Amino acid sequence: MNPDEKRRVAVVGAGVIGVMSAWQLAERGFDVTVFDQWNTPNDRGASAGESRIFRTVYKEGAEYVPLLRKSLQLWRRLQENQSTKVLEMCGGLMIGHTWQADVAAVIDCAQQTGLEHRVLSTAEMAEEYPQFGLDEGEVGVYDPGAGVFRPELAVLAARNEGMRLGAAYRPYTRVLGIRPVRSGVMVDTADGPEAFDTVVVATGPWVNELSGLGRDVVVPRRLVAGWFPARDVPLHQPARMPISIRRHEEGGFSCFPVLDGAAVKILPHHLPWKDLDAPEDLPRLVEPETVRAAERAVERLMPGLEPTAIRVSTWTEGFAVDETPVVGPSPVDDRILLAVGMSGQGFKFSPMVGSVIADYAQTGSSDDAVAVMDSLRFSRGERS
Ligand SMILES: Cc1cc2nc3c(=O)[nH]c(=O)nc-3n(C[C@H](O)[C@H](O)[C@H](O)COP(=O)(O)OP(=O)(O)OC[C@H]3O[C@@H](n4cnc5c(N)ncnc54)[C@H](O)[C@@H]3O)c2cc1C
Repeated sequence: MNPDEKRRVAVVGAGVIGVMSAWQLAERGFDVTVFDQWNTPNDRGASAGESRIFRTVYKEGAEYVPLLRKSLQLWRRLQENQSTKVLEMCGGLMIGHTWQADVAAVIDCAQQTGLEHRVLSTAEMAEEYPQFGLDEGEVGVYDPGAGVFRPELAVLAARNEGMRLGAAYRPYTRVLGIRPVRSGVMVDTADGPEAFDTVVVATGPWVNELSGLGRDVVVPRRLVAGWFPARDVPLHQPARMPISIRRHEEGGFSCFPVLDGAAVKILPHHLPWKDLDAPEDLPRLVEPETVRAAERAVERLMPGLEPTAIRVSTWTEGFAVDETPVVGPSPVDDRILLAVGMSGQGFKFSPMVGSVIADYAQTGSSDDAVAVMDSLRFSRGERS
């Protein structure tokens, strides 16, 4: 691209998806401006909370695997360029019975794609990973291509990499509206309107206002996590404990090794993830029965942890109605690009979402776009 003809792109939202999009767009020579109503990183949306999981053997489907492989390359490049470690490849486990849907799905994904994996029996799990309590007949499916992120540092690294390549950040600047006009797309803030060639909507759970998707296509939902002290801390650190997803009739959760020097983070899946009217409605206080239910699951399934939550936090995430991310042109105007509704999955493949968005900005299409994430599936009536 000729520097004199740089096309202007606005990115609305500087969570992980916005900062990755800004990095990828700046790298391809666009003149990028990123707006966020808060600073970057912030803990108001979906991209904070100490840890996130990367997995390659993907229960959600083999079609995501190429995206995940390319994402890992971009994560590595980001770490190298910024001389910072944001992803530790500690491996991952899916734990449960092979007849359970998610356990069967990871084995199926590994077999379809030829990805390296191991199925450990109950006895092998007790020998290699005594941190996890298994019932007779349960297995652990080990994915060596899994790891744990430091999300706040990752967002910061991608922001800095984008800025190094020329992206400008406008913190504490809420975008009030996006208006396609003949010559471009206007972005309205309290400072007045500004014209861009393309606008990327990466507003996480704040999606309905600006996306042009219908009111109920993506909803903000509350997620809760608790931290439980490890009796043997080194045994529960990433060098010895993989990230894991547990499936069990008495509780299901994501489990993150000790990063704070004391406690394992548990994110329960078996407790309701409440829908919110707006991310601003997120209750920061968690009701005692939710905490108690998480503690019972830990007591039953994690023998090396104190079953008492010493810290509890809540966050919002945008969930699409089909629990699948929404990436591509807006149904309103193809100069508006959507990367929203990440549905609890977005951190791991965020650099590739950024790259796909940069493809769309450059050429109007992307060879890396994953069909199930197609942003036009709702307006075509394919999903509801
Ligand atoms: C608790 C939890 C655990 C998770 N675990 C995992 C995991 O283990 N692995 C994984 O891959 N994914 C995981 N996810 C999902 C992943 O973290 C999210 O998909 C991802 O962080 C979404 O990022 P985002 O940029 O879309 O949204 P956000 O991080 O919410 O960013 C949106 C940004 O837009 C800004 N904004 C909104 N509206 C406006 C406006 N009008 N003007 C200006 N700025 C605006 C907000 O201030 C915010 O900073 C998890 C999510 C949560 C909540």
